[in-house]
Amino acid sequence: TIQSQVNPILNEQGQPRGAVIVMHDVTELRRLEQMRTEFVANVSHELRTPLTSIKGFVETLLDGAADVPSLRERFLKIIQAETLRLQRLIEDLLTLAHFEGRENRGELGSGKISYLQQAYKKIQPVILSFAQVKGIEVEIDLPDDLPPLSIGEDLLSQLLLNLLENAVKYTTEGRVWLKAQAYEGAVRLEFGDTGCGIPEEMLPRIFERFYRVDKARSREQGGTGLGLSIVKHMVEGVGGTINVTSELGVGTVFICDLPRAK
Ligand code: ADP
Repeated sequence: TIQSQVNPILNEQGQPRGAVIVMHDVTELRRLEQMRTEFVANVSHELRTPLTSIKGFVETLLDGAADVPSLRERFLKIIQAETLRLQRLIEDLLTLAHFEGRENRGELGSGKISYLQQAYKKIQPVILSFAQVKGIEVEIDLPDDLPPLSIGEDLLSQLLLNLLENAVKYTTEGRVWLKAQAYEGAVRLEFGDTGCGIPEEMLPRIFERFYRVDKARSREQGGTGLGLSIVKHMVEGVGGTINVTSELGVGTVFICDLPRAK
């Protein structure tokens, strides 16, 4: 999209003798504006849906359903689930706002236990209990001699959490794994699973905010559609890259390269 502005040049008698035309390419600006509008619409929708449901069930309870024990129990459970959903959504939105457009550099040096093992230890209970409930194996292979990285510790934990949680979430049987190795001036992390996979045509979109391949499935598992966009912002904020390959019904592998500290 080109936006142009025409300014006539006048001679001493005030007659036009030429013009200056200024043209701006506003394509990128328009695209950003549109993304912003879509994002706000998405946020409103995602917040409003659970709120409407909570409001409805509270009113029904107040109107007398609270006197019927079976209904009371059922409706309160729904209200609880929707409240949790709102909480997760708000937490994810705040995390996203925190990482967006920011460089999140910190320093992680080499020590006896690698920073990766430490970061993993923080989230291990969450991942292992989730995997156990689903009967999925978890294989973690993190060497202890890794080059220093310019990434903060909290960020690294959040990165491992989001990707491993997804791996378990979208796998019904088999295993999920995390491997790390030093790789050409970077540390390469591989997150893999033997899960449902992602259709090829949808792969380029999964890092978008609120994009979900199967909305119902993600929702059922407590997904907000924000996890991968948070991951992408975090990784790019420290100068790294993240890529994905997947095969439907076979599994998915995310490869994340984090650059060495300078
Ligand atoms: P969600 O909260 O829905 O999990 P994410 O941003 O983390 O949102 O992921 C976006 C979508 O990408 C998910 O809804 C899911 O469809 C797909 N996805 C992410 N990770 C995996 C995976 N390991 N296996 C299959 N699909 C995945």
